[in-house]
Amino acid sequence: MYIVQIASECAPVIKAGGLGDVVYGLSRELENRGHGVDIILPMYDCMRYDHIWGLHDAYRDLWVPWYGGAIHCSVYCGWVHGRTCFFIQPHSGDNFFNRGHYYGALDDHMRFAFFSKAALEFLLITNKRPDIIHCHDWQTGLLPVMLFEMYKWHGMDTQRVCYTIHNFKHQGIAGPQVLWATGLNNDSYYYHYDRLQDNFDHTAVNFMKGGIVYSNFVNTVSPHHAWEARYSEIGCGLGHTLELHNHKFGGILNGIAYDIWNPEIDSYTPHHYDKDDLEGKAKNKKALRERLLLRDVDKPLIAFIGRLDGQKGVHLVHHAIYHALNRGAQFVLLGSATEPSINSWFQHEKNHLNNNPDCHLEIGFNEELSHLIYAGADMIVVPSNYEPCGLTQMIGLQYGTVPIVRGVGGLVNTVFDRDYDSEKLPEERNGYVFYQTDKYALESAMNRAIGLWYDYHEEFQSLVTQGMEYDYSWNHPGEKYLGVYDYIRH
Ligand code: ADP
Repeated sequence: MYIVQIASECAPVIKAGGLGDVVYGLSRELENRGHGVDIILPMYDCMRYDHIWGLHDAYRDLWVPWYGGAIHCSVYCGWVHGRTCFFIQPHSGDNFFNRGHYYGALDDHMRFAFFSKAALEFLLITNKRPDIIHCHDWQTGLLPVMLFEMYKWHGMDTQRVCYTIHNFKHQGIAGPQVLWATGLNNDSYYYHYDRLQDNFDHTAVNFMKGGIVYSNFVNTVSPHHAWEARYSEIGCGLGHTLELHNHKFGGILNGIAYDIWNPEIDSYTPHHYDKDDLEGKAKNKKALRERLLLRDVDKPLIAFIGRLDGQKGVHLVHHAIYHALNRGAQFVLLGSATEPSINSWFQHEKNHLNNNPDCHLEIGFNEELSHLIYAGADMIVVPSNYEPCGLTQMIGLQYGTVPIVRGVGGLVNTVFDRDYDSEKLPEERNGYVFYQTDKYALESAMNRAIGLWYDYHEEFQSLVTQGMEYDYSWNHPGEKYLGVYDYIRH
C-alpha cells in the first residue's frame, strides 16, 4: 500500500507534543511492514534541521491557488531518521511558516488551510496517487473536504482518507474567508449542519467537523477517549457529529517508537538497562541528579514531563511538587507553557525552589533531557484533566518509571492500579490510578507509591519490571491502522 501522512508535526524534527511522536512512529511501523510511506509537513523556520538528512529540492514550482490568485511554493525532501518527508515552503508576504513557533498565531486557521491545500496540490501535480491519505488533527481537517469536493474531479478519485483526532480541544474555527481562500466557494452549501458549520457558532466553519464528515474513517487515539468524546463534554461540542458518523468512528491506542524510546539503546542516556538488569537505571538516576544539581540521597524521584496547560491538570502538577517534597521524595519537572500566566506562575515557583536540593523545575522544551528524566526517575505523575491517549505514561513504563495517573482517556487503557484494579491480575498491574480532580485523590495515590518505595522496596521493583513487560510499541496499533486502511480501500 502507498500511504501519505499529512500533519503539522513529525518527531523529532517538528514536535510540540504527542502528535509528532505518532506521525513518526506509525510511519516507521508501516514501512517496517513493507508499505510505502511519505510524510508531508510545513517547512517551519524553527524546526530541528539537525534531524533532517539529505535535504534537497523536490519540486520548485508549485503554484497553490489561494483566493483569486496563487502562491508560489518550493517543496523540499529529506529523511528524518529514515522517514521520507516533504516540506512545503510558501513564498509569500504571509510568511505562513516563518513565525519562530509552530502554533499560536492569530491566522493559524489560514496557515493550516493553506498547508492542506498545498499538500493536495503537490500530490496532484507530482502524480502521486496514494491509496490512503492519513490526516491528523484540526490542521488538516479541510483536506478531505477539498479532496472530495474539488480534487476528486481532477483525477484524485480513488484516494481514501483516514482522519485521526489527537485532541478535540482545538478544532480550527474560522470565518467564511477560509472558504473563499481555499476555493470552497459555496458558503450556503458548506455552512450546513451536515457539513462544516460549527455546532455552536453558526457563523463559523469548523475544520475538525469537516474532517469527521468527509473522511472515510475517523478515529481518536484510545478506545476510552473515543467513548468520552461521544458521550461527555470532552468531545467539545462534536459528540453529536460523532454519533451521526458512528459507523466510521473508533478509538485506536497510540504506540511509542521503540527505536527512539528504548532504555537498552537510548543515545541520550549515559547508561543502558533492561528489565532483567536495572543497574543502569540507578546510574541514570545518579546522572540526572548530577546534571540538575540534586543531592544524591536515599529518596524516590518523581517526575512530570509535559505541556503546562489546563489539559494536563497544572494545579495538580503544582500540588504534586510540594506533596512529593513533604513526603520525602525528590521532584523534577520538565514542561513548557504557551499561556503567559501559567509560564510566569511556574517561573516563579522555579525561582522559589531554586536552592532546594530535592527539586528542579526546567521550564522549556528539551527532548534530550526528557530521555534522561524518563530513565532516571522512579515515578512519573500524569494528573491530566483529560488525556486522549497520553504518551508519557507509556514511555515511563518502558523505562521502568512507575506511572501515577488520573483515570481518564487513554490513561485508563494503559495504567492498571497496583492495589485496586479489578481486571488485571496483581502480577499484571503497573502503576497507580486516581479519579477525582482534587488534591486529596492525587495525594493518596502518591502516598501509596512513595510508601511502597520506602517500605517494600522489593515489591516496588516488581512493579517496575511488571510495567516494563507491557508492549506499547507500534506493533498492535500498526496492525489496527492497516486493518482500517484495508477496510476503507474496498
Ligand atoms: P500531548 O500530545 O498532549 O502534549 P502526550 O503525552 O501525548 O501529550 O505526548 C507528549 C510528548 O511530548 C512526549 O513524547 C513527551 O515526552 C514530550 N514532551 C512534552 N513536554 C515536553 C518538554 N517540555 N520537553 C521535552 N519533551 C516534552
